[in-house]
Amino acid sequence: QIVLVTGASGFIAAHVVEAFLKKGYNVRGTVRSEKTAEEVRKTHSKYAEQLSFAIVPNISAANAFDEAVKGVDGIIHTASPFILNATDFEKELLQPAIRGTTSILEAVQKYNPSVSRIVVTSSFASVLDPMQGQRPGYVYKEADWNPITVEQANSNPVMAYLASKTFAERAVFDYVETNKPSFTVATLCPPMVYGPIVHSVSDVKSLNTSSGDINRLIDGSEKDVPDTSFHAFADVRDLAEAHVLAFEKPEAAGQRYLVANSAYSYQQICDIIREKFPEQKDLTPKGNTGAPLPPAYRLDTTKAVTELGLKFRPLQETIVDMVNSLMKLRQ
Ligand code: NDP
Repeated sequence: QIVLVTGASGFIAAHVVEAFLKKGYNVRGTVRSEKTAEEVRKTHSKYAEQLSFAIVPNISAANAFDEAVKGVDGIIHTASPFILNATDFEKELLQPAIRGTTSILEAVQKYNPSVSRIVVTSSFASVLDPMQGQRPGYVYKEADWNPITVEQANSNPVMAYLASKTFAERAVFDYVETNKPSFTVATLCPPMVYGPIVHSVSDVKSLNTSSGDINRLIDGSEKDVPDTSFHAFADVRDLAEAHVLAFEKPEAAGQRYLVANSAYSYQQICDIIREKFPEQKDLTPKGNTGAPLPPAYRLDTTKAVTELGLKFRPLQETIVDMVNSLMKLRQ
């Protein structure tokens, strides 16, 4: 079987591609250029014979995926911008997220009736209600949808990102309802995704957003432990496994899954780093070691555990492996 993984050069996609290759699938990755294809090839050099590429320079373009989808058995759509500093919200966030998603669904319906399942990497961004803040005592479930409006989307770059993911995921379920395609869909909603960096990164400045989030806790740029911005995390390897399971399991048809480990705080992350990497002591803020988690919402991930059979790694393993890979990048 061959699966198409969009945005194969990304932090999460690198693990998704690896997880499918490891299970014996052939993978066709979409990348923006031949040069990027070369880098992704190096990342997965162990599986050279199972990996091929389709060049899709811009996922916002009309009919962007028409060629890429031909001849594959399934689609994993991860490509979407995750940036929190956009200035042109339409062009940088909303169009690639929404059009990128609808154009792949349309391309499959038009050109490839043998695709059985499309798995879309959505986000907890499309689940939480940002207007409710920390919301202590509330437990988010798959039935929750971010009620963000177009007007709110245009209010600031963070809201624009949250909206891009919400509108894109809504577009998936709306498309299925309206067009009744022969394929089924499943969406995955992870919060902040951490873990080892295996994709090609030229320097720490070009890290993806969630890796940059941890990098700032080890590079001396934070004097105090920052306030935790989202109150749950997922390990990138667990999330990659979730993509395989959501593709393979018949019962995932038409479902969305919260994919997240326990609650966490930046304080806990700093505690782990300072304990496991003592040489980091002057670069990682100390804060209030051992402080309890701040009161905030929680996530109910029972569905991913029972239906997909997912297991989650503990925060310490995620952070230690991530920091080790960040250290390597800085050498
Ligand atoms: P990355 O920035 O590492 O990966 C994004 C991928 O999308 C890259 O391959 C990028 O290509 C591609 N892409 C973005 N915009 C375009 C475009 N206009 N045209 C073509 N390709 C494009 O981010 P992540 O791996 O973190 O994110 C992957 C997915 O996971 C996204 O859908 C994101 O919303 C979602 N997600 C991520 C979370 C996290 O904490 N990391 C949390 C929740 C969801 P290129 O490298 O060439 O720019």
